[in-house]
Amino acid sequence: MRTFQQISALRAYLRNLRQDKKTIGFVPTMGALHAGHLSLVQRSKGDCDITVLSLFVNPAQFAPTEDLSKYPRELNRDMQLTSNADVDAVFLPEIEEMYPSGFQTWVGVTELSKPLEGEHRPTHYQGVATIVTKLLNIVQPDIAYFGQKDYQQFLVVERMVRDLNIPSAIQMVATVREADGLAMSSRNVYLSPEERTAATLLNRLIGIASERVQQGEPNPLTLKQDLERVMSQEPLAELDYVALVHPDTLQPVTGLQEEATLLTLAIKIGKTRLIDNALLVPEGIPLPRPRISKPI
Ligand code: AMP
Repeated sequence: MRTFQQISALRAYLRNLRQDKKTIGFVPTMGALHAGHLSLVQRSKGDCDITVLSLFVNPAQFAPTEDLSKYPRELNRDMQLTSNADVDAVFLPEIEEMYPSGFQTWVGVTELSKPLEGEHRPTHYQGVATIVTKLLNIVQPDIAYFGQKDYQQFLVVERMVRDLNIPSAIQMVATVREADGLAMSSRNVYLSPEERTAATLLNRLIGIASERVQQGEPNPLTLKQDLERVMSQEPLAELDYVALVHPDTLQPVTGLQEEATLLTLAIKIGKTRLIDNALLVPEGIPLPRPRISKPI
């Protein structure tokens, strides 16, 4: 496995591979890797000749009040995991390599960044869109892989790639969960044992909502209120939002039985903020196709 800290060295390595007609898959991460990240790697290795993974805790996507300084950093373990997973190249730039002094160009995806996470983290997606643009420009992958776990992030990146004519396909990969249903996340290490148990609430809410929609519940407001009621019974959980939205536009839906609806949830358990989501598919409606955007 090759490791690169310099953009120029990574570019030189990839240029040679491209000349040899190798296809390149790319998995951007902030490290503290887990099986969710590794499922993106597996997908890339299945689709592409070469897999590049980046490890970069991007300061621009954290607000000053958020957990940038204590975000888990486990470089040795990450290198072991990527090497075991047969990643071809790891890109781990220093902050100055990505944001040199004088940096002043930002990418904003105006509408899709506004609702849901955007309401609670107003500068987050500008940070995400900017770093992903830079990484895609550096790596120039055939396909870049993103988790469904961060569904809104996927939509923001998909829109940005289309709007800016970035010549990479963007592939969504299903959320990987712990045995009890908690979505894997680098932030799960913050949870105390009691909080970890309470965190299964998210997956319980998804289960309740999926069942209700399959049983024919037509009304998003009724379902939302019922989910909020279940949530209020968990003393360790504090609600950020429960939303039932269209999976392409993220706008609230008016019915639940016409097509698939995206349920998206954010809660705080103690100091830890957790998000999760699922597509709710009514009986008789086919599952939406897995999402991949083709370069135009
Ligand atoms: P992060 O390191 O949190 O920025 O995540 C890097 C990539 O891994 C993003 O595309 C995430 O959506 C994806 N990811 C994180 N957790 C999971 C999970 N449990 N299952 C699948 N993908 C995930």
